[in-house]
Amino acid sequence: MIVPTLHCPSNCKYCWGSDKESELMDIQVIKEIDEWLDGFRDDYVHFTFHGGEPLLAGYDFYREALSILKNSKTHKEAGFSLQSNLWLLDEKLSKLFSEYGVAISTSVDGPKKINDYQRGKGYFDKTMKGYKIAIESGVHVSFISTFTSYSKDFRDEIYNFFLKNRYNFKLHAALPSLRGNNADKWVLTPKEHGNLLIGLLNSYLNDLDKIEIKDFDHICKSLFIRRGTLCTFADCMGDTLAVGCDGNIYPCYRFVGMNEYIMGNVYDHPSMEELMKSMAWDKLMKFKDHVDESCGDCSYVKFCRGGCPYNGMVSSKYTGSISKTDDTNNLEPNEVNSSISVDPQCEAYRMIFKEVSDRANKEFLNSSIGTFPGQKQNNTKKFTVMDLMLKR
Ligand code: SF4
Ligand code: SF4
Repeated sequence: MIVPTLHCPSNCKYCWGSDKESELMDIQVIKEIDEWLDGFRDDYVHFTFHGGEPLLAGYDFYREALSILKNSKTHKEAGFSLQSNLWLLDEKLSKLFSEYGVAISTSVDGPKKINDYQRGKGYFDKTMKGYKIAIESGVHVSFISTFTSYSKDFRDEIYNFFLKNRYNFKLHAALPSLRGNNADKWVLTPKEHGNLLIGLLNSYLNDLDKIEIKDFDHICKSLFIRRGTLCTFADCMGDTLAVGCDGNIYPCYRFVGMNEYIMGNVYDHPSMEELMKSMAWDKLMKFKDHVDESCGDCSYVKFCRGGCPYNGMVSSKYTGSISKTDDTNNLEPNEVNSSISVDPQCEAYRMIFKEVSDRANKEFLNSSIGTFPGQKQNNTKKFTVMDLMLKR
């Protein structure tokens, strides 16, 4: 992950990731990344530009950065993606992204009214303008829909918006952050999150031939192959690394800008062994050990792995599990408890894994016993979770 800046021109109400003071990455950092990767590991590298708002880096930065990373002899490049609100996308940038096959994810939280309520006035139109420019250049764009304590009540309306427009999307649950408390009143409790996932899966099983919700494709596939295929449900440590605007290396974009999570700097070309000596690595390993210990009896541990370590670390900021403390939806900061925790969305994950397992078992039973004459099959859904498990 490359984070050219944490600055962002928008001001979404639930955002925890932007920093108006953040500087822009110099192209030298990309050159250093390229050199650093020489002999770092033998794997393919997928580059994701993230922010803040990565388009603030501008056309010249991307023209040079993409050329350096694509044509390099120091690593095997496996593709590019970029997460942006698209406000700054113009035809020139869009053509460049098309030329390099950069896949874009952009945030739209559903119909204009809901989106603008929880992000900001006029945000929907600005993003959709960029979306049209991208599509006209042949850039692949998918959406990220953030569900909050507000928008969860409009689940069907939001789902139907994406369905009607045939927009593929990924879910993002508004969750607390290590950086500050401004997102807290928007966060979903694990139970709300779990119910949301079950409700959306139920709708999605009518429409697999029309849209894609990647989260469910991954969850069902993970259950089938017994291994997490989404970073949240895999041991992400060391497989994901993020580089901030000054060249500092972090475990993931969510930690960028936090000094205690710096693992090294690309200017020093550190080896993996050197990164593993950092305090950040130590914290991640403690999380992993804690998962092995406390999730040991869980039937889902192989393809959940305790969830996202970042979420686990945030939860140590709060008392007990993530639960709302009063009607204002505020969370209570934890002054005493700094012990390690698994991802507090555990309950949500258990709920959706159980739902998928139960459905799969029922489908398997139905298919193995066949249907007796006159017996009505469970045909309320057009598709099954088996279809998702076997989806390519
Ligand atoms: S810390 Fe969380 S968001 Fe970041 S790569 Fe790991 S699982 Fe994914
Ligand atoms: S569902 Fe909960 S208990 Fe099971 S592996 Fe995930 S975090 Fe651990």
